[in-house]
Amino acid sequence: MNNMERELIIIGGGPAGLTSAVYACRGGLNAVLIEKSSVGGLIIKTDLVENYPGFPEGISGFDLAQLMEKQAARYGLEIVQGEVFEFKIDGQYKIVTTPQGEYRAKAVIIASGSELMRLNVPGEKEFMGRGVSYCATCDGPFFRGSKLVVVGGGDVAITEAIFLTQFADKVSIIHRRDQLRAGKLLQDRAMANDKIDFVWDSVVVAVEGKERVESVRLRNVKTGSEADLDASGVFVAIGFKPNTSYLQGILDLDGKGSVIVDAGGMMKTSLPGVFAAGDVRHNSVRQVAAAVGDGTVAALSVERFIRGS
Ligand SMILES: Cc1cc2nc3c(=O)[nH]c(=O)nc-3n(C[C@H](O)[C@H](O)[C@H](O)COP(=O)(O)OP(=O)(O)OC[C@H]3O[C@@H](n4cnc5c(N)ncnc54)[C@H](O)[C@@H]3O)c2cc1C
Repeated sequence: MNNMERELIIIGGGPAGLTSAVYACRGGLNAVLIEKSSVGGLIIKTDLVENYPGFPEGISGFDLAQLMEKQAARYGLEIVQGEVFEFKIDGQYKIVTTPQGEYRAKAVIIASGSELMRLNVPGEKEFMGRGVSYCATCDGPFFRGSKLVVVGGGDVAITEAIFLTQFADKVSIIHRRDQLRAGKLLQDRAMANDKIDFVWDSVVVAVEGKERVESVRLRNVKTGSEADLDASGVFVAIGFKPNTSYLQGILDLDGKGSVIVDAGGMMKTSLPGVFAAGDVRHNSVRQVAAAVGDGTVAALSVERFIRGS
Protein backbone atom coordinates (compact mmCIF):
# COMPACT_ATOMS: atom_id res chain seq x y z
CA MET A 1 0.00 0.00 0.00
CA ASN A 2 1.48 3.40 -0.89
CA ASN A 3 1.07 6.27 1.55
CA MET A 4 -2.11 7.55 -0.10
CA GLU A 5 -3.71 4.10 -0.32
CA ARG A 6 -6.19 2.91 2.31
CA GLU A 7 -8.71 0.08 2.52
CA LEU A 8 -11.57 2.55 2.92
CA ILE A 9 -12.14 6.24 2.23
CA ILE A 10 -15.05 7.92 4.02
CA ILE A 11 -16.14 11.23 2.51
CA GLY A 12 -17.77 13.51 5.10
CA GLY A 13 -17.40 13.73 8.87
CA GLY A 14 -21.02 14.10 9.99
CA PRO A 15 -22.91 11.48 12.04
CA ALA A 16 -23.06 9.05 9.09
CA GLY A 17 -19.35 9.27 8.27
CA LEU A 18 -18.24 9.15 11.92
CA THR A 19 -20.41 6.11 12.64
CA SER A 20 -19.02 4.30 9.59
CA ALA A 21 -15.58 5.16 10.89
CA VAL A 22 -16.25 3.69 14.36
CA TYR A 23 -17.41 0.40 12.83
CA ALA A 24 -14.71 0.25 10.16
CA CYS A 25 -11.78 1.09 12.46
CA ARG A 26 -13.08 -1.15 15.23
CA GLY A 27 -13.36 -3.89 12.60
CA GLY A 28 -9.67 -3.43 11.78
CA LEU A 29 -10.01 -1.64 8.43
CA ASN A 30 -7.41 0.93 7.48
CA ALA A 31 -9.68 3.93 6.90
CA VAL A 32 -9.29 7.65 6.26
CA LEU A 33 -12.13 10.14 6.72
CA ILE A 34 -11.97 13.29 4.60
CA GLU A 35 -13.91 16.33 5.86
CA LYS A 36 -14.01 19.69 4.14
CA SER A 37 -14.92 21.83 7.16
CA SER A 38 -15.69 21.05 10.83
CA VAL A 39 -16.01 17.41 11.84
CA GLY A 40 -19.55 16.85 13.13
CA GLY A 41 -21.56 17.91 10.08
CA LEU A 42 -24.88 19.71 10.14
CA ILE A 43 -25.69 18.74 13.70
CA ILE A 44 -23.14 21.18 15.16
CA LYS A 45 -25.47 23.96 14.05
CA THR A 46 -28.17 23.04 16.54
CA ASP A 47 -28.26 23.94 20.24
CA LEU A 48 -30.15 20.95 21.50
CA VAL A 49 -30.80 17.49 20.08
CA GLU A 50 -33.69 15.96 21.97
CA ASN A 51 -34.51 12.99 19.78
CA TYR A 52 -31.26 11.05 19.71
CA PRO A 53 -31.58 8.01 21.99
CA GLY A 54 -29.38 7.79 25.06
CA PHE A 55 -29.62 11.45 26.09
CA PRO A 56 -32.90 11.81 28.01
CA GLU A 57 -32.23 15.48 28.81
CA GLY A 58 -31.06 16.20 25.25
CA ILE A 59 -27.52 17.10 24.22
CA SER A 60 -26.06 20.00 22.27
CA GLY A 61 -25.31 19.12 18.66
CA PHE A 62 -21.73 20.25 19.16
CA ASP A 63 -21.23 17.97 22.18
CA LEU A 64 -22.83 15.01 20.39
CA ALA A 65 -20.53 15.50 17.40
CA GLN A 66 -17.48 15.73 19.67
CA LEU A 67 -18.42 12.48 21.42
CA MET A 68 -18.80 10.74 18.06
CA GLU A 69 -15.42 12.03 16.91
CA LYS A 70 -13.78 10.98 20.19
CA GLN A 71 -15.23 7.48 19.85
CA ALA A 72 -13.88 7.14 16.29
CA ALA A 73 -10.47 8.49 17.38
CA ARG A 74 -10.31 5.84 20.09
CA TYR A 75 -10.16 3.21 17.37
CA GLY A 76 -7.43 5.05 15.50
CA LEU A 77 -9.40 6.92 12.83
CA GLU A 78 -7.28 9.14 10.59
CA ILE A 79 -9.02 12.39 9.68
CA VAL A 80 -7.88 14.55 6.79
CA GLN A 81 -9.07 18.13 6.33
CA GLY A 82 -9.92 18.89 2.73
CA GLU A 83 -12.69 19.02 0.17
CA VAL A 84 -13.12 16.11 -2.19
CA PHE A 85 -13.56 17.68 -5.60
CA GLU A 86 -13.03 14.72 -7.93
CA PHE A 87 -13.88 11.03 -7.89
CA LYS A 88 -12.40 8.67 -10.50
CA ILE A 89 -12.24 4.96 -11.15
CA ASP A 90 -8.99 3.13 -11.92
CA GLY A 91 -9.76 -0.57 -12.32
CA GLN A 92 -10.83 -1.83 -8.92
CA TYR A 93 -9.54 1.34 -7.23
CA LYS A 94 -11.50 4.49 -6.53
CA ILE A 95 -9.42 7.68 -6.64
CA VAL A 96 -10.58 10.59 -4.54
CA THR A 97 -8.93 13.96 -5.14
CA THR A 98 -8.50 16.67 -2.51
CA PRO A 99 -6.30 19.80 -2.50
CA GLN A 100 -3.84 17.73 -0.41
CA GLY A 101 -3.54 15.05 -3.07
CA GLU A 102 -5.15 11.82 -4.30
CA TYR A 103 -6.31 9.01 -2.02
CA ARG A 104 -7.06 5.56 -3.41
CA ALA A 105 -9.02 2.66 -1.98
CA LYS A 106 -11.10 -0.28 -3.13
CA ALA A 107 -14.04 0.89 -1.00
CA VAL A 108 -15.58 4.31 -0.43
CA ILE A 109 -18.44 5.49 1.77
CA ILE A 110 -20.12 8.65 0.53
CA ALA A 111 -21.39 10.53 3.60
CA SER A 112 -21.15 14.11 2.38
CA GLY A 113 -24.65 15.12 3.49
CA SER A 114 -26.50 18.04 1.97
CA GLU A 115 -26.80 21.78 2.18
CA LEU A 116 -30.05 23.39 3.11
CA MET A 117 -31.33 25.99 0.69
CA ARG A 118 -31.30 29.37 2.38
CA LEU A 119 -33.63 32.30 1.94
CA ASN A 120 -30.56 34.54 1.68
CA VAL A 121 -32.33 37.51 3.25
CA PRO A 122 -31.18 39.89 5.99
CA GLY A 123 -31.68 38.43 9.48
CA GLU A 124 -31.72 34.77 8.41
CA LYS A 125 -28.14 34.01 9.37
CA GLU A 126 -28.17 36.26 12.44
CA PHE A 127 -31.24 34.55 13.93
CA MET A 128 -30.28 30.97 13.08
CA GLY A 129 -30.88 28.97 16.27
CA ARG A 130 -32.74 31.97 17.75
CA GLY A 131 -35.98 31.55 15.87
CA VAL A 132 -34.80 30.58 12.39
CA SER A 133 -34.83 26.82 11.88
CA TYR A 134 -34.54 24.34 9.01
CA CYS A 135 -35.94 21.34 10.88
CA ALA A 136 -39.41 21.22 12.46
CA THR A 137 -38.88 17.71 13.87
CA CYS A 138 -35.79 19.00 15.65
CA ASP A 139 -36.91 22.42 16.87
CA GLY A 140 -40.74 22.38 16.86
CA PRO A 141 -41.10 21.49 20.57
CA PHE A 142 -39.26 24.71 21.51
CA PHE A 143 -42.16 26.76 20.11
CA ARG A 144 -45.14 25.80 22.29
CA GLY A 145 -47.93 28.38 22.17
CA SER A 146 -46.12 30.46 19.51
CA LYS A 147 -47.02 32.05 16.19
CA LEU A 148 -44.82 30.55 13.47
CA VAL A 149 -44.23 30.87 9.77
CA VAL A 150 -43.21 28.08 7.42
CA VAL A 151 -41.65 29.14 4.12
CA GLY A 152 -42.25 26.83 1.15
CA GLY A 153 -45.01 25.04 -0.69
CA GLY A 154 -43.77 21.49 -1.27
CA ASP A 155 -44.36 18.26 0.64
CA VAL A 156 -41.67 19.04 3.21
CA ALA A 157 -43.04 22.51 3.97
CA ILE A 158 -46.62 21.29 4.38
CA THR A 159 -45.59 18.28 6.47
CA GLU A 160 -43.54 20.57 8.70
CA ALA A 161 -46.44 23.04 9.05
CA ILE A 162 -48.87 20.28 10.06
CA PHE A 163 -46.31 18.88 12.51
CA LEU A 164 -45.76 22.31 14.06
CA THR A 165 -49.47 22.72 14.86
CA GLN A 166 -48.93 20.21 17.69
CA PHE A 167 -46.97 22.94 19.48
CA ALA A 168 -47.80 26.33 17.94
CA ASP A 169 -51.04 28.30 18.27
CA LYS A 170 -50.84 29.43 14.67
CA VAL A 171 -48.76 28.52 11.63
CA SER A 172 -48.72 30.71 8.50
CA ILE A 173 -47.44 29.11 5.31
CA ILE A 174 -45.69 31.63 3.09
CA HIS A 175 -45.58 30.55 -0.53
CA ARG A 176 -44.34 32.45 -3.57
CA ARG A 177 -47.07 31.02 -5.82
CA ASP A 178 -50.87 30.92 -5.52
CA GLN A 179 -50.99 27.14 -5.25
CA LEU A 180 -48.98 24.51 -3.43
CA ARG A 181 -46.64 21.98 -5.01
CA ALA A 182 -47.34 19.49 -2.20
CA GLY A 183 -49.40 16.34 -2.83
CA LYS A 184 -53.20 16.62 -2.70
CA LEU A 185 -53.61 14.65 0.51
CA LEU A 186 -51.18 16.89 2.38
CA GLN A 187 -52.81 19.99 0.93
CA ASP A 188 -56.24 18.83 2.07
CA ARG A 189 -54.95 18.14 5.57
CA ALA A 190 -53.31 21.54 5.82
CA MET A 191 -56.38 23.36 4.50
CA ALA A 192 -58.61 21.56 7.00
CA ASN A 193 -56.35 22.48 9.93
CA ASP A 194 -57.74 25.47 11.88
CA LYS A 195 -54.29 26.48 13.08
CA ILE A 196 -52.88 26.87 9.54
CA ASP A 197 -53.37 29.83 7.23
CA PHE A 198 -51.73 30.69 3.90
CA VAL A 199 -50.05 33.81 2.60
CA TRP A 200 -49.98 33.36 -1.18
CA ASP A 201 -47.78 34.97 -3.82
CA SER A 202 -45.40 36.14 -1.15
CA VAL A 203 -41.73 35.87 -0.26
CA VAL A 204 -39.84 36.66 2.95
CA VAL A 205 -37.53 39.62 2.35
CA ALA A 206 -36.22 40.00 5.93
CA VAL A 207 -36.30 38.30 9.31
CA GLU A 208 -36.56 40.86 12.10
CA GLY A 209 -36.25 41.04 15.89
CA LYS A 210 -33.98 42.03 18.77
CA GLU A 211 -32.58 39.03 20.69
CA ARG A 212 -34.80 36.52 18.88
CA VAL A 213 -37.09 36.52 15.86
CA GLU A 214 -40.14 38.74 16.33
CA SER A 215 -41.50 39.17 12.79
CA VAL A 216 -40.88 38.61 9.11
CA ARG A 217 -41.16 41.16 6.34
CA LEU A 218 -43.13 39.84 3.38
CA ARG A 219 -43.34 41.07 -0.19
CA ASN A 220 -46.22 40.23 -2.48
CA VAL A 221 -44.56 39.17 -5.75
CA LYS A 222 -47.58 40.28 -7.83
CA THR A 223 -48.18 43.73 -6.34
CA GLY A 224 -44.76 44.48 -4.84
CA SER A 225 -46.40 45.61 -1.59
CA GLU A 226 -44.66 44.80 1.70
CA ALA A 227 -46.02 44.01 5.17
CA ASP A 228 -44.77 42.66 8.52
CA LEU A 229 -46.11 39.46 10.02
CA ASP A 230 -45.53 38.72 13.73
CA ALA A 231 -43.85 35.36 14.34
CA SER A 232 -41.44 33.99 16.92
CA GLY A 233 -40.20 31.22 14.65
CA VAL A 234 -39.41 30.92 10.95
CA PHE A 235 -39.11 27.41 9.52
CA VAL A 236 -37.43 27.42 6.13
CA ALA A 237 -38.43 24.44 3.97
CA ILE A 238 -37.53 25.46 0.44
CA GLY A 239 -35.46 22.39 -0.28
CA PHE A 240 -31.95 21.03 0.04
CA LYS A 241 -29.05 20.35 -2.24
CA PRO A 242 -27.08 17.11 -1.80
CA ASN A 243 -23.29 17.59 -1.69
CA THR A 244 -22.66 15.40 -4.72
CA SER A 245 -21.26 17.70 -7.42
CA TYR A 246 -18.03 15.62 -7.37
CA LEU A 247 -20.07 12.49 -8.23
CA GLN A 248 -21.87 13.76 -11.34
CA GLY A 249 -21.50 11.22 -14.16
CA ILE A 250 -19.84 8.66 -11.84
CA LEU A 251 -22.72 7.27 -9.77
CA ASP A 252 -26.47 7.02 -10.29
CA LEU A 253 -28.06 10.08 -8.69
CA ASP A 254 -31.76 10.97 -8.49
CA GLY A 255 -33.27 14.13 -9.97
CA LYS A 256 -32.19 16.17 -6.95
CA GLY A 257 -28.64 14.80 -6.96
CA SER A 258 -29.07 12.40 -4.00
CA VAL A 259 -27.17 9.10 -4.30
CA ILE A 260 -29.39 6.15 -5.23
CA VAL A 261 -28.82 3.08 -3.05
CA ASP A 262 -29.98 -0.53 -3.41
CA ALA A 263 -33.54 -1.50 -2.53
CA GLY A 264 -32.13 -4.21 -0.25
CA GLY A 265 -31.00 -1.52 2.19
CA MET A 266 -27.28 -2.40 2.21
CA MET A 267 -26.33 1.18 1.17
CA LYS A 268 -24.81 -0.07 -2.10
CA THR A 269 -24.59 2.48 -4.91
CA SER A 270 -24.49 1.77 -8.64
CA LEU A 271 -20.72 1.22 -8.41
CA PRO A 272 -19.32 -1.91 -6.69
CA GLY A 273 -17.39 -0.99 -3.55
CA VAL A 274 -19.02 2.44 -3.23
CA PHE A 275 -21.64 2.87 -0.51
CA ALA A 276 -23.67 5.90 0.61
CA ALA A 277 -25.01 6.84 4.04
CA GLY A 278 -27.01 9.58 5.73
CA ASP A 279 -28.64 12.71 4.32
CA VAL A 280 -26.79 12.36 1.00
CA ARG A 281 -28.72 9.28 -0.01
CA HIS A 282 -32.03 9.11 -1.85
CA ASN A 283 -35.07 9.01 0.47
CA SER A 284 -33.14 9.80 3.64
CA VAL A 285 -35.37 10.92 6.52
CA ARG A 286 -32.61 13.40 7.39
CA GLN A 287 -32.19 12.68 11.09
CA VAL A 288 -29.10 11.86 13.16
CA ALA A 289 -30.42 8.47 14.27
CA ALA A 290 -31.06 7.52 10.63
CA ALA A 291 -27.61 8.74 9.54
CA VAL A 292 -26.05 6.65 12.32
CA GLY A 293 -28.03 3.60 11.15
CA ASP A 294 -26.98 4.12 7.53
CA GLY A 295 -23.36 4.58 8.57
CA THR A 296 -23.44 1.30 10.46
CA VAL A 297 -24.90 -0.62 7.52
CA ALA A 298 -22.49 0.99 5.04
CA ALA A 299 -19.43 0.07 7.15
CA LEU A 300 -20.59 -3.53 7.58
CA SER A 301 -21.23 -3.73 3.83
CA VAL A 302 -17.68 -2.50 3.22
CA GLU A 303 -16.29 -5.23 5.51
CA ARG A 304 -18.19 -7.84 3.52
CA PHE A 305 -17.04 -6.33 0.23
CA ILE A 306 -13.37 -6.22 1.21
CA ARG A 307 -13.20 -9.52 3.06
CA GLY A 308 -15.61 -11.29 0.74
CA SER A 309 -17.63 -12.64 3.69
C1 LIG B 1 -30.37 23.41 12.30
C2 LIG B 1 -30.49 21.89 12.26
C3 LIG B 1 -30.95 21.23 13.37
C4 LIG B 1 -31.05 19.83 13.36
N1 LIG B 1 -31.50 19.21 14.47
C5 LIG B 1 -31.62 17.86 14.47
C6 LIG B 1 -32.12 17.18 15.63
O1 LIG B 1 -32.44 17.79 16.65
N2 LIG B 1 -32.24 15.82 15.56
C7 LIG B 1 -31.91 15.10 14.44
O2 LIG B 1 -32.01 13.88 14.46
N3 LIG B 1 -31.45 15.73 13.32
C8 LIG B 1 -31.31 17.08 13.31
N4 LIG B 1 -30.87 17.72 12.18
C9 LIG B 1 -30.55 16.90 11.00
C10 LIG B 1 -29.14 16.27 11.15
O3 LIG B 1 -28.20 17.28 11.41
C11 LIG B 1 -28.76 15.50 9.90
O4 LIG B 1 -29.75 14.54 9.60
C12 LIG B 1 -27.41 14.79 10.08
O5 LIG B 1 -26.39 15.72 10.42
C13 LIG B 1 -27.03 14.05 8.81
O6 LIG B 1 -25.76 13.48 8.99
P1 LIG B 1 -24.83 13.17 7.72
O7 LIG B 1 -23.58 12.63 8.30
O8 LIG B 1 -25.58 12.36 6.75
O9 LIG B 1 -24.57 14.56 7.00
P2 LIG B 1 -23.96 15.92 7.53
O10 LIG B 1 -24.19 16.10 8.97
O11 LIG B 1 -24.47 16.96 6.60
O12 LIG B 1 -22.38 15.74 7.32
C14 LIG B 1 -21.82 15.74 6.04
C15 LIG B 1 -20.40 16.24 6.15
O13 LIG B 1 -19.75 16.07 4.89
C16 LIG B 1 -18.92 17.20 4.65
N5 LIG B 1 -18.71 17.33 3.20
C17 LIG B 1 -19.63 17.71 2.27
N6 LIG B 1 -19.09 17.68 1.04
C18 LIG B 1 -17.80 17.28 1.20
C19 LIG B 1 -16.73 17.09 0.28
N7 LIG B 1 -16.87 17.27 -1.04
N8 LIG B 1 -15.52 16.70 0.77
C20 LIG B 1 -15.36 16.50 2.12
N9 LIG B 1 -16.34 16.68 3.02
C21 LIG B 1 -17.56 17.07 2.57
C22 LIG B 1 -19.69 18.35 5.26
O14 LIG B 1 -18.83 19.44 5.57
C23 LIG B 1 -20.30 17.70 6.51
O15 LIG B 1 -19.46 17.86 7.65
C24 LIG B 1 -30.73 19.10 12.18
C25 LIG B 1 -30.26 19.79 11.05
C26 LIG B 1 -30.14 21.17 11.09
C27 LIG B 1 -29.63 21.89 9.88
